[in-house]
Amino acid sequence: MSVNPSRIKSNIDLNKNGHQVGELMIPWSDNTTPLGYHPIPLINVRNGKGKSLLVIGGNHGDEFEGPAAIMRISQKFSSNEVNGHILLIPSLSFNAVKNSSRTNPLDYKNMNRAFPGNPDGSPTEMLAHYLETHLIPNFDAIIDLHSGGKASIFTPCSLATKSTNSRLFQENLELAKIFGAPTIWILGQNNDNRSLNSAAERANVPMIAAELGGGGGVDPDMTSMAESGILKILKHLDIFNSIQITEKPQFDIIEISNPSATIHAPSFGLFDRLTKAGDIVSKGQSAGWFHYISEPDRASIELKFKHSGKILAHSNRGVVKKGEMLALVANNYNAKE
Ligand SMILES: [Zn+2]
Repeated sequence: MSVNPSRIKSNIDLNKNGHQVGELMIPWSDNTTPLGYHPIPLINVRNGKGKSLLVIGGNHGDEFEGPAAIMRISQKFSSNEVNGHILLIPSLSFNAVKNSSRTNPLDYKNMNRAFPGNPDGSPTEMLAHYLETHLIPNFDAIIDLHSGGKASIFTPCSLATKSTNSRLFQENLELAKIFGAPTIWILGQNNDNRSLNSAAERANVPMIAAELGGGGGVDPDMTSMAESGILKILKHLDIFNSIQITEKPQFDIIEISNPSATIHAPSFGLFDRLTKAGDIVSKGQSAGWFHYISEPDRASIELKFKHSGKILAHSNRGVVKKGEMLALVANNYNAKE
């Protein structure tokens, strides 16, 4: 299969040995940069014939724990300490990161819904195409670090795609176990095929994503967990062996299999939440009160969980619009399915 050429170029040679800092250059002529390019910072470390790892943060621009962990990692090694290839992209949607927004202000698109992309499309579409065709297929493993951003809070978890390729699924699961988050979320058939996870699956490259809490700030516990998770995977791949692993990882494995997994906002109003991410809840238990704050003569309603499980995520907002996710409940993964 021939690969459509990309308009995006790297200003460093990713195949060259050594420790290099450079940029992907996105040609997009707008009012701020009519004849130049929009940069995406890269750190590329290469030495020897070992395996290769691509680590991405800032896929969404208001999720800062991943970029912080990657910036910590980037200071940790020189190229002669590495056997293999590490490409760090701390802020994939760099314009979104600079704007502290989920989507890219250049084209209002969501990076994790833009794959397989378009070489002649908008900046986000061009970037998705570049990743899908020029980067992802060249790596032995990929980590894509997310969090709940401003809008939501996740229980800390790593995400492994349940591929129909059973070898790839086992490799995804292995990466998730090594990363060390206390919950592993199996992404099943409902995973959006426009995500980076799906792009990695199409390329048969083992990959995990992670959800590192949320809220739109930088939680120190989440950043440290991501930092040690990346180091554990570098050790597993025999690329860089700095971390001593003493503890045996403990984790729950969950999936979303129930059609009523999400409680959505029934109207515009105030969600008066009674539970938090990671809580184990029962069917019929109260998730919180929904107050019609613009119609105070209207009785508040109690929103109840429709099935039992673990709260994977909840809204980080007080005032919400109709249709917003208020709570998302996952079940224990049933390996027999
Ligand atoms: Zn995200």
